[in-house]
Amino acid sequence: LYGAGRTNSQGFDLTAEDTLHTIFTARDTRPEDAAPLLHLGENIPGGPGGWPPGDATTQPITNPATGEPIAQVTNADDTTVAQAITNARPWTAPAPARAAILRRAADLYEAEFGPIFGILTREAGKTLNDAVAELREAVDFLRYYAGQGEGDTRAPRGIIAAISPWNFPLAIFTGQIAAALMAGNAVLAKPAEQTPLIAAHAVRLLHRAGVPTHALQLLPGEGGTVGAALTRDARINGVVFTGGTDTARLIAASMADHMAPGTPLIAETGGLNAMIVDSTALPEQAVRDIMASSFRSAGQRCSALRCLYVQEDVAPHLIDMIKGAMDQLRVGDPWDLATDVGPVIDAEAKAGILDYLAARQDRLLHRIAAPETGHFVPPTLLRVAGIEDLDHEIFGPVLHVATYKARDLDKVVAAINARGYGLTFGLHTRIDSRVQEVTQAIHAGNLYVNRNQVGATVGSQPFGGEGLSGTGPKAGGPLYLPRFLAPEAPQPGT
Ligand code: GLU
Repeated sequence: LYGAGRTNSQGFDLTAEDTLHTIFTARDTRPEDAAPLLHLGENIPGGPGGWPPGDATTQPITNPATGEPIAQVTNADDTTVAQAITNARPWTAPAPARAAILRRAADLYEAEFGPIFGILTREAGKTLNDAVAELREAVDFLRYYAGQGEGDTRAPRGIIAAISPWNFPLAIFTGQIAAALMAGNAVLAKPAEQTPLIAAHAVRLLHRAGVPTHALQLLPGEGGTVGAALTRDARINGVVFTGGTDTARLIAASMADHMAPGTPLIAETGGLNAMIVDSTALPEQAVRDIMASSFRSAGQRCSALRCLYVQEDVAPHLIDMIKGAMDQLRVGDPWDLATDVGPVIDAEAKAGILDYLAARQDRLLHRIAAPETGHFVPPTLLRVAGIEDLDHEIFGPVLHVATYKARDLDKVVAAINARGYGLTFGLHTRIDSRVQEVTQAIHAGNLYVNRNQVGATVGSQPFGGEGLSGTGPKAGGPLYLPRFLAPEAPQPGT
């Protein structure tokens, strides 16, 4: 895809006075206000007042920027998951009525942007810019699937379990749900354990827009409890998951053991994403795109650039420019409009990345300071010989850089493919034939030429990978929603 990305929905002008006013009001929104909203739907025995059950476990939610607790959330357990499945009923309203309700939900999301930014920042550590992009994407998903499904009269599969990650706790959460609901299914949504507050807020808005509570129930809790219970219940007719490759394997194994053969799993998993910059690339443009691809969202995107290959002839100059650009990054308070890099999600993530870096001191090329308090990780540049030196996906602001000789370009492409992942790939070059050759040879779901490689756009740039990076179909593309519809009955005689 050439050129800059675009967004479908209306933008938010961060300089407009009313927007700033709402942002600063949102700053005072207490995410804990969302906590009482966690419920399992009206038809759970005892109704919302009966939730949580007396023996349920609770879990603290912390602000990644400060490490301070902001809410206490009640988790679902095996019994409540089983009960929610019993209570789930597909959404039988005609498709045009479902579409109208999802569009109403999109309007409510937009109208609620202040509280949404407040929760995304407090609970997920999103910078304001990332929070804006995330809300836009969530709204795009609602409108895109509404438009795609409104003329469809096919039957739904039944009950879909939607298991979503903390790194896009509104956009991916909403995208999974919107497609499954638009197809007429009942959805049991399990948010990441780190980010149930924004999920609860979203579910509240979807219910307020008109989605029946029996068609959408929220099940906050641990993957090992709630996720495991959902993925071993034979009454579930499909699972949609975004998260780690290892978890996807566990889910697939559990589904194979417990569910009807052919029950679909849509999994969007990790990546070891590379970018190649050759000697014809425009250095300023390449550096800008390298910075966005590696350090935006503190590197916590499965699309993020992990391993940069720079052609040897231009490497010293380009690496110097990257160091200079890193020195300009502002790491810190996600509420500050000038902040580029916010915190990582939690103490465990921070410790894991710092351990990884400590073991690779000898490869350190550059690092900039980050606040000590809160879950901040210093943006870091490491030298590697090639992508084979990366033993796993580091989900944080860490960029690995390798150099290559012009005659070895084929070997670089082969080394990238050999890792078995295939999510995003970036190429900076001004040679058109090279664009054709390299993009045809690379195995990746999303290819980006002369731009950054994060931030796919619903509708125009569907997102998803191949190999170890996922099953497809791509989110935000035409094949995704149909996966949630019952397969066509075989025709007689065929
Ligand atoms: N869709 C996002 C992007 O294009 C990444 C989603 C993810 O990290 O799971 O950057």
